[in-house]
Amino acid sequence: MTDLSTPSPALSIVVPCYNEEAVLGALLARVRKTCADLKMTDYEIILIDDGSQDSTARLIEDANSTDPRVRGIILSRNHGHQVALTAGLSYARGARILVLDADLQDPPELLGEMMAKMDEGYDVVYGQRMERAGETRFKKTTAHVFYRLLHGLIEIDLPTDTGDFRLMSRRVLDIFLSMPEQDRFIRGMISWIGLRQTAVQYNRDARFAGETKYPLKRMLRLAVDAFTGFSIKPLRIATYTGFFMAFCSVLLGARVLYGFLSGNTVPGWTSLMLVVLIISAVQMMVIGIMGEYIGRLYMQSKSRPLFIVDRITDTAASGDQVRHAQNQKTEKTLENSST
Ligand code: UDP
Ligand code: MG
Repeated sequence: MTDLSTPSPALSIVVPCYNEEAVLGALLARVRKTCADLKMTDYEIILIDDGSQDSTARLIEDANSTDPRVRGIILSRNHGHQVALTAGLSYARGARILVLDADLQDPPELLGEMMAKMDEGYDVVYGQRMERAGETRFKKTTAHVFYRLLHGLIEIDLPTDTGDFRLMSRRVLDIFLSMPEQDRFIRGMISWIGLRQTAVQYNRDARFAGETKYPLKRMLRLAVDAFTGFSIKPLRIATYTGFFMAFCSVLLGARVLYGFLSGNTVPGWTSLMLVVLIISAVQMMVIGIMGEYIGRLYMQSKSRPLFIVDRITDTAASGDQVRHAQNQKTEKTLENSST
């Protein structure tokens, strides 16, 4: 939702930042240069500090005091990339919205090409990675497998090798902001919206500085969010596995009965152990899958705000500070202080 008390710029650039002190300066320079090259002056850069332990928040506040086009949202603690990005998006006022990573892995220079596509009538223009420089073989392989597997499992048409780097129209953003889910897999949610979407392809650079904030644990979490958020096929697979195991147990039961009747019952330790191990493993897996869905239902049922804002630094806004239209109960501003 746009905030009517302040003018809406043509473009909002939304960047979540977690311990990104080493890249912020370069990021702002490249974004500003890109906009200057495109002769764009009417834009805002929204930097979200996702509970960084380094000087990221201070750098954001400094940037805001020297350039009112930079607006800072300082979250109360680390909320994770997808939620931090949602926080930033809910404050974006632009007619078009560009989502960018802080580490310059996604080149802001692609903006011109993305804008041109949008002028043709597209609602979403996403960046699709051709090559990924400077990332470990492990990361590339897991990402490759993840996108292919996801493709087979979920019911929406999610483009492969696409992160959150995308330009979207106001109407897509407004629809996105009306989606209340707690577990957010943003690229999936945007694909789910549909409308006219297209890709621009690019080679993903290495991180400009600092290190990845997506260790294996977070990647796994994102993957599980993606699977459970967009499909109940894992539950169905659990059911099918159950049927398959039941079928096997009938065959095995017949075999056991035959052995008993023919008086040929011992030795059976190995086969017994195998059956116990396999069945209990499958059971645990099925319970785990169900648990993932139940856990998500539980978290959702609490309807807590998605994120907590500590403070907003926005010199451009009027005295009593930005009070954004909240079209959903996803946020709660504890303190609206201005610098
Ligand atoms: N990020 C964030 N909160 C987090 C983790 C990451 O806001 O808890 C931001 C991070 O600062 C960066 C973006 O999300 O702008 C992507 O993170 P990163 O570059 O570390 O991920 P990778 O590119 O390695 O997958
Ligand atoms: Mg990165």
